[in-house]
Amino acid sequence: MTAKAPVPKPGILDIQAYVPGESTVPGGLKPIKLSSNETPLGASPKAVAAYKALADELALYPDGAATALRGAIGRTYGLDPARIVCGCGSDELLHLLTHAYAGPGDEVLFTVHGFLVYKIATLANGATPVIAPEKDFRTDVDALLARVTPRTRIVFLANPNNPTGTYIPIDEVRRLHAGLRPDTLLVLDAAYAEYVRRNDYEAGIELVATTQNVVMTRTFSKIYGLAGLRLGWAYCPAAIADVLNRIRGPFNVTSAAIAAGVAAIEDTAHIERSVAHNDKWLPWVSDEIGKLGLKVTPSVGNFILIHCDAEGARSAQAADEFLKSRGIIMRRVGGYALPHALRMTIGTEEDNRAVVAALAEFVKGSAR
Ligand SMILES: *Cc1c(COP(=O)(O)O)cnc(C)c1O
Repeated sequence: MTAKAPVPKPGILDIQAYVPGESTVPGGLKPIKLSSNETPLGASPKAVAAYKALADELALYPDGAATALRGAIGRTYGLDPARIVCGCGSDELLHLLTHAYAGPGDEVLFTVHGFLVYKIATLANGATPVIAPEKDFRTDVDALLARVTPRTRIVFLANPNNPTGTYIPIDEVRRLHAGLRPDTLLVLDAAYAEYVRRNDYEAGIELVATTQNVVMTRTFSKIYGLAGLRLGWAYCPAAIADVLNRIRGPFNVTSAAIAAGVAAIEDTAHIERSVAHNDKWLPWVSDEIGKLGLKVTPSVGNFILIHCDAEGARSAQAADEFLKSRGIIMRRVGGYALPHALRMTIGTEEDNRAVVAALAEFVKGSAR
């Protein structure tokens, strides 16, 4: 039988399209947008200047190898630029890795509250998602290892994870890696690594450097404040960098992103300011919201997960609607199997104080 219209490949229609954080509120209020983990401090002024300086060169193709950017990343972290691949956001790199290493009949493993792009990329390539439970909203390495089968091609681990904000120590990551076959790819998505202040945390650079089956992805969308430019990178074993370079678009990173990325990664003072801001406000917001009687999962990122009631006046939906009436946009996380929670990005001092004041009002009005 012939279909009446083109039919996409198996898996694609099983995808629930990614729903980005909202950015408007009803009533024309100026929104306080805390829904996408963007930095409240903005991009480095040097990155903005580098971006503007490119305006006269828009007719020219970018350097397809992103040489200047890979060089700057290599200098910053002490890495071989030949093993760095840049992408249109780290999302593109997650998709390319899945495209290269998983297909029909293969399994891709990640945790129940793991970043949604893993599932989308898995289904888009006809592979089968396998989901491991978490413990207290944290990756459970034993639960992951228990679900490894001969068909497991890729294991995705966001560390710290979004939207939970939790992390596992590098020893646990090593234990996970040790339990995988050498032909299973472990992808360490370290989108929030710059924010983490824990002695037992590592993004995974050494693991990539000393093994053949681990890739670390990073992004310029979070602490660097370049989400609008779409820029990420992966540090890979040489053979995997070679694979990504064969299948990526020849000009997948724009010249503006390359220039701004170099300036951003070299502006260490701006990064330090951003870390200091988070160090101050992450604990303050977590404590103040906790004092109101709402449970907050301890986070090491620039966002927190706030737990509401399963139903009634203090449900996540009720909280979300109340906050929106005050101009505050958080992220509903039902798509992450967290229907009773909201994710809040740490904002400016003014934003954070507005959130705590609004939630105090909400809690008062919804007394149990
Ligand atoms: C934000 C985020 C990314 C980054 O995506 P980009 O495509 O680089 O903007 C990757 N992984 C996780 C877990 C994230 O939260």
